Amino acid sequence: MKAQTTQRYTLADLEQWREISRDIDPPIRLGVLGDPVAHSFSPEMQNAALRACEINAQYARFHIRPSELRSALHFLRNLNFAGMNLTVPHKIAGFGQIDEADESASRIGAVNTIRIRDNKLVGSNTDGEGFLRAVRSEFSVDLRDLRVLIIGAGGGTGRAIALQCALENCERLVLVNRTLEKANALLQHLRSFFMEARVLGPAARLEVVAWEESLMRMQLGDIDLIVNATPLGMNPSDPAPIPGRLIAPHHMVFDCIYGPSKTTLLRAAEQAGARSANGMSMLLHQGALSFSIWFDREPPIDAMHKALL
Ligand code: NAP
Repeated sequence: MKAQTTQRYTLADLEQWREISRDIDPPIRLGVLGDPVAHSFSPEMQNAALRACEINAQYARFHIRPSELRSALHFLRNLNFAGMNLTVPHKIAGFGQIDEADESASRIGAVNTIRIRDNKLVGSNTDGEGFLRAVRSEFSVDLRDLRVLIIGAGGGTGRAIALQCALENCERLVLVNRTLEKANALLQHLRSFFMEARVLGPAARLEVVAWEESLMRMQLGDIDLIVNATPLGMNPSDPAPIPGRLIAPHHMVFDCIYGPSKTTLLRAAEQAGARSANGMSMLLHQGALSFSIWFDREPPIDAMHKALL
């Protein structure tokens, strides 16, 4: 008899996984670990990909608190899992708890994709490349031509996006974060990418500003793309990460959040007459890249896209 998978599993389930999962068919061999995790659409998308490729496995949600991550990874390493995704808030902590990191993860110091080979956890990061592809598909522009402001530059996602902007040699990058020291540390890390002068006018190519309205206002005249990489907006009662009055029609606004599909920030962008996009296409592209890491094959992107729609 086939057992139904539940909405989400916990560390307590992983502790007795063989018993819990005995009758689950297809077997759960992939999952996303997060806190919160109920919002994640990765299971719908990845399960569609597994079905399209006729792989006998399924992907589940695991609600793992920050203090539980080490134990969860320990259990997963020794179970028959192909890999997993890490989401908020585990990407940076996860980097310190894997056995090996590929170039994409070591460059950023954060992990969103883990594959398991011979009981070893090998970490990668597909967020930056996923973001790059999403911006291209949503706005028909390339990062290299943009002046970008990232709010939440201290988190795993903000760091991955900042590094991608640096690798693409984007015109200008402004880092904003609640905890200023983290943005300053990232600036030091990225400085060498921005040494070359580009014909731009007086604004510095790489800057950190505190998360204050007056300081952000001074930057936004020289910015094309505003990115929210904080979790602010996941709750409908959250305020926008920047006041709507700072958004102008020339801006493009990208909110990494995709649930809810229209955050306070995106509504403000719409009101300001700016182009905007939520994080759904980033989810698709980073997830497709994760799939190819786990299975070493082309991801069925149309099936994944359809599942998200
Ligand atoms: P994270 O590592 O926990 O980072 C959170 C960042 O947001 C930090 O810079 C933090 O600032 C800031 N922050 C947190 N709460 C804040 C608050 N109340 N006010 C102001 N700043 C706050 O999280 P993450 O994994 O990077 O994820 C961030 C968001 O991106 C989440 O909403 C996640 O769902 C989304 N995301 C979407 C995709 C996609 O595919 N669409 C992919 C990845 C992530 P401090 O440094 O001061 O703590």
